[in-house]
Amino acid sequence: MSDRVTGTDKGRKRGFSTALLKWYDAHARALPWRVSPAARQAGAVPDPYRVWLSEVMLQQTTVATVTPRFEAFLDRWPTVTALAAAPLDDVLGEWAGLGYYARARNLHACAVTVANEYGGVFPDTEEGLLALPGIGRYTAAAVAAIAFDRPATVVDGNVDRVMARQFAVDRPIREVKEEIYAFAESLTPKKRPGDYAQALMDLGATVCRPKAPQCLLCPVLKMCDAHIQGIADALPVKPAKKARPTRYGVVYVGLSSEGAVLTERRPDKGLFGGMAGLPGSAWQEGGAPEEAPPLAGDWEVAGEATHTLTHFHLVLTVCRARVKRKPKDYFWTAAGDLETLPTVFRKAVAVAVG
Ligand code: SF4
Repeated sequence: MSDRVTGTDKGRKRGFSTALLKWYDAHARALPWRVSPAARQAGAVPDPYRVWLSEVMLQQTTVATVTPRFEAFLDRWPTVTALAAAPLDDVLGEWAGLGYYARARNLHACAVTVANEYGGVFPDTEEGLLALPGIGRYTAAAVAAIAFDRPATVVDGNVDRVMARQFAVDRPIREVKEEIYAFAESLTPKKRPGDYAQALMDLGATVCRPKAPQCLLCPVLKMCDAHIQGIADALPVKPAKKARPTRYGVVYVGLSSEGAVLTERRPDKGLFGGMAGLPGSAWQEGGAPEEAPPLAGDWEVAGEATHTLTHFHLVLTVCRARVKRKPKDYFWTAAGDLETLPTVFRKAVAVAVG
């Protein structure tokens, strides 16, 4: 690992942030939650609610996917107080398809806390933000920097990669998280920290990309250890791959004569906690469990639905039947509302209805 960097390397720190901010002033991405560098310098102030909402949505999800969903959320709930007043089910429904549903539950819990205990005003420091439900180290730093221009150290996946290359880190990122954080901290300026944090994210997303980094377009190539050593393409070092196991299960798609689908509320804890889902078996390795259907019916196998989740591949045997009467504890999801189901269940319904 490079020994060129320490928190006392002031020349590098100043050179890095000056070059990066100059580049950002010319190349900042236009994003619906962002105040542009020009607007910011003219006195515009970011809305902490928009910053927080975008940061929660962007965790594990791409800008292209988040952009329309962010706008739909804002149309429906333009303030944190409005979001806090919404029923949790509505928020979970609007979140469908964004994945990692615990984020939506935390989002709502955080909005309720800000509305009820903080008078609808977000705390303006990293420490204050960290005290809110569902806000971790990254989100607290990002909101403190971007919304309140605090010199917080913001390290997301893009920043991890830029730091790993800038300092020629020769181990997988997940093994050196604290060192990467220290490198990022050593470069964080006091001047324009909000723009700096966004500039670093933009650099990682558009120039210092995971594959084929565009070093010749990079504003900080002169001080980049990986570029100087000619190893930018080889970094960050990849961790040894763990095979993703395959789990199997059975789902039951009960259809009404109008095409509505019989659904149930999933337990609050666990995958898709609190969301609507299809009844079915547990998901396990080694083959689908032999289980009786959860309700009587003329069940037939319609096919298989496959889906890949973070920790496993899933193969579901899809059974279907006409269901005349809705049993207790189940509810109908109309054909036009199927987008409120998590993707894996939507795939199963698609198999069932051909
Ligand atoms: Fe990334 Fe290349 Fe810039 Fe280094 S010079 S930060 S590797 S794009």
